[in-house]
This record gives sequence, structure tokens and C-alpha cells, in this order.
Amino acid sequence: MARNPVVDQEACISCNLCVDLVPEVFRLNADGLAEVYAANGAPEEKIQDAIDNCPVNCIAWED
Ligand code: SF4
Repeated sequence: MARNPVVDQEACISCNLCVDLVPEVFRLNADGLAEVYAANGAPEEKIQDAIDNCPVNCIAWED
């Protein structure tokens, strides 16, 4: 089964990097914080790239 990414919005600094890298999965919500709107919208490798590059490490795979 595909894994789902989750964003810790308490930690998100709204840098937009994850949205730039994987717009099929991440978007900024009305408060300017990243959210997952289509968990399986892109290959896991692309999502992993966002996880690895988030400057505050606030994206993770859901348990
Ligand atoms: S890369 Fe991290 S800090 Fe930047 S918008 Fe996405 S979740 Fe927020």
C-alpha cells in the first residue's frame, strides 16, 4: 500500500519548497501553511525529495 505524507503545520515556515517540488501533492492552505491535498498524487521518490529538502523537516511519512 502506498504511504501517505503528512505535514506538521506547527513547524511549517511557508517556504513553498514542497509545493514547488511536488505540486501534485502539496499546496499552501488559506493560512499559508503546507498541506497534503493528494497523498498519492506523485511517486514516493518525488515526495521523499520534498521530505529530504524541507528546511525544517516537518514533512514525514504517516505511521
Ligand atoms: S518545505 Fe516544509 S517548511 Fe516549506 S512549505 Fe513545505 S512543509 Fe512548509
